[in-house]
Amino acid sequence: MMIVVLKKAATIKEMAAVIKHIEALGLKPHISEGDEKTIIGAMGDERVIDKDKLLGFEGVEAVIPILKPYKLASREFKSDRTVVSLNGTKIGNSAVVVMAGPCAVESYEQVLEAAISAKESGAKILRGGAFKPRTSPYAFQGLGRKGLEILARVRDEVGIPIVTECLSQDDVELVSDYADIIQIGARNMQNFSMLEKVGKQSRPVLLKRGMMSTIEELLMSAEYLLSNGNYNVILCERGIRTFEKMTRNTCDIAAVPVLRSLTHLPVIVDPSHATGERHLVTPLSLAAIAAGADGLIIEIHPNPDKAMCDGYQSLHLEQFAQLMKQVSTVAQAVGRSV
Ligand code: PEP
Ligand code: MN
Repeated sequence: MMIVVLKKAATIKEMAAVIKHIEALGLKPHISEGDEKTIIGAMGDERVIDKDKLLGFEGVEAVIPILKPYKLASREFKSDRTVVSLNGTKIGNSAVVVMAGPCAVESYEQVLEAAISAKESGAKILRGGAFKPRTSPYAFQGLGRKGLEILARVRDEVGIPIVTECLSQDDVELVSDYADIIQIGARNMQNFSMLEKVGKQSRPVLLKRGMMSTIEELLMSAEYLLSNGNYNVILCERGIRTFEKMTRNTCDIAAVPVLRSLTHLPVIVDPSHATGERHLVTPLSLAAIAAGADGLIIEIHPNPDKAMCDGYQSLHLEQFAQLMKQVSTVAQAVGRSV
């Protein structure tokens, strides 16, 4: 990919001429309009580009190749941070955004109680899985469409947007009919055909890091979404597998500042799956915010001991209220709000 950097004073007409030229070469233009300057990425076989010819276009300041394997996700392509907007809630802005809710949707009453409490405590987005990726085929697999209907009903009654996982390529339309944000789980981070399909629809996407994936692989998966036209991508560190057994996964906190230096996309942390233990969720949440995370996704449950999925890592509703107070203190300490 080549990027064409336009001069600050470039006109719309000059920009259109560059885009037309890129298209005529059989390349796909991707536009990044920043506060400082506009960049046009030319995606495809860059050998067809005559750099000097492009430099001769009015309004063009520079023509530079992006050498990183991820292109649209890179800070070279877009230096301003991406802010994902969901009518009123902004993810990637100065305010830290917390998503909370049960691991799995079990019943209307369960989700409603969790949602009311989560919102009161300051959560801006409700989580809940209708389709659950389970290690055992005999374990509870989620309520499916009925779970989506419950989430949508609670969203409308409580007034809180929902994030929920799409497990299969066949369910992308179904999930996007209900969800405000489509979650792609750790186990599907490299399901490339699903990434392409989710990239072609317009709902924002929460892309979780695979438990055995590198940061660069996470960015390459994000690139699938971006290159298919969906720029509203939120990345999520949720712990990786290491030799350590004391925690369910090892939370790679360093991934937060690393990602923030490599990409313009918002980065959040899931301390619930990263640790697998209730008492570790608050310390990791605070560490994530201190390290620069744009938000958190946390499992909570009205009655964790009776949860059908991930109860041992789910916070009691009152514990979540406490967590939010501490998160707010740390957020302020690092120059952010909640
Ligand atoms: C979840 O969020 O419920 C989940 C299954 O997470 P992950 O894909 O990170 O394991
Ligand atoms: Mn879970």
